[in-house]
Amino acid sequence: MLFSELGLGPDVLRAIEDKGYTQPTPIQEQAIPWVLQGRDVLGCAQTGTGKTAGFTLPMITMLASGRARARMPRSLILEPTRELAAQVSESFETYGKYHKLSMALLIGGENFSEQVKKLDRGVDVLIATPGRLIDLFERGNIMLNDIKVFVIDEADRMLDMGFIPDIERIVSKLPKSRQTLFFSATMPPEIRRLADAFLSTPQEVTVAPPASPAETVTQAMALVHDVDKRKALRHLLNTEEVKNAFIFCNRKRDIAVLQKSLERHGFNVGALHGDMVQSKRTETLDLFKKGEISLLVCSDVAARGIDVQGLSHVFNFDVPLTPDDYVHRIGRTGRAGKQGRAFMLATPDDTKLVGNITRLIKREIPMIAIDGLETAEFGDEDARPRRGGRGGASAGAGRGRPEPRARAPREERPAREERPAREERPVREERPVREERSARDDRPVREERQPRESLAAAEARRNSEPRRDRDRGGDRRRRRDDDDDDASVIGFGDHMPAFMLRSARPRPAPESIVEAADQGQEG
Ligand code: AMP
Repeated sequence: MLFSELGLGPDVLRAIEDKGYTQPTPIQEQAIPWVLQGRDVLGCAQTGTGKTAGFTLPMITMLASGRARARMPRSLILEPTRELAAQVSESFETYGKYHKLSMALLIGGENFSEQVKKLDRGVDVLIATPGRLIDLFERGNIMLNDIKVFVIDEADRMLDMGFIPDIERIVSKLPKSRQTLFFSATMPPEIRRLADAFLSTPQEVTVAPPASPAETVTQAMALVHDVDKRKALRHLLNTEEVKNAFIFCNRKRDIAVLQKSLERHGFNVGALHGDMVQSKRTETLDLFKKGEISLLVCSDVAARGIDVQGLSHVFNFDVPLTPDDYVHRIGRTGRAGKQGRAFMLATPDDTKLVGNITRLIKREIPMIAIDGLETAEFGDEDARPRRGGRGGASAGAGRGRPEPRARAPREERPAREERPAREERPVREERPVREERSARDDRPVREERQPRESLAAAEARRNSEPRRDRDRGGDRRRRRDDDDDDASVIGFGDHMPAFMLRSARPRPAPESIVEAADQGQEG
């Protein structure tokens, strides 16, 4: 099928041609005609399928006629994270370049007054994260009663992040007669219930079975002992042909430590997580997209929707706590028909989490062995060797299979590997969140973390909270503007408190955080 057969306007078609797209993707082919007919759409599609253009292209065609009034946007797109919102606004700029549509991006961490000025002038397209939108609404800067097209993107992520009460609140301010487009990568029952509440006789379009990892991603997993993870990662980085990669950690504090460790080992690496100020997040992502940073150690803020063209690798330094996150993380690579490679480092503690993932994706993840590291056994952490007692298994030995596309390892920087063995594990010892969760299957984790709250209950609780507290983040669990990780996890940014680095036994003071961490891992 051709784009010209979908009913899009000529200026949109010109912009698509400039962009170099020759054919609509399946989600575009299925969704665009329904959107243009004014129907509600329930789209089940992973990121990477072209779903953003699936809703932006017809919206531009539909909004081409008509004018926005001051403070009364004509369309609203809700995104769970600032990065995604920014990405959607870039799509509008690209595909709407021959139109004169005005657009405002309302995201946390950016200047309020600039955003308010834009709204005052009138906008056709408003792209927002829920928290900031509610703030501006409460201040009277915005009216939502002229919204004709409403898009909820990444609905399952919204659920994860506790945005659903906010979204219910926003929807209650929208006109009843509107068109709603609802997209989600997965369709668990909670999301379906929401879709039933928000959509009116929707047309359903599904382009991939929920939560199926793209076929273009080659997956592999190394089972190592916790203390060996950094070394295993470096080995993979040195032996794989890594052009650029996301390296996912579960906890923000581990991100800073891992980033510094990799820096010390000579890698060109940045970090991205929800505790960073927005300007730094944007700058880091830009540098990464430009290729000036080739590795990004990140939290799940980077797992959804972030579109980096041609990302060659994804490394799960930690096994994600929910299997959906695995699918989203590895979905950053192998996009737009390109091949990608995804590696995961699992430890014996991760048995259940890995089981949850393989159940969801309905396949085993091939195991590989790492040169010079003993391959661990699932569920066998007690039997692991003491620190420094390397088993000496080589690539392809033990339970592992040969590394995919192995090539001669570049010379590893040996300095840290040669440290004398020690027995303490100072930094990564405590894993309460993971252990508590690993005994359950994937869904209850979300339900427990984000109990659904009715609109009335949410309002009552919101009103009973002191305003100052809410503004400072007292309502953080429910309404993190765009935060990413588990709310029970405390991020320390780049600063690791000293008490966390102190080992059980007295030893000479480490030179730096990284050294301490490296010592802790590498013995
Ligand atoms: P998305 O799933 O919306 O994040 O899109 C993933 C990637 O696919 C983006 O880099 C888009 O630029 C690209 N893309 C979207 N539509 C097409 C198309 N019809 N042909 C080729 N690439 C596309």
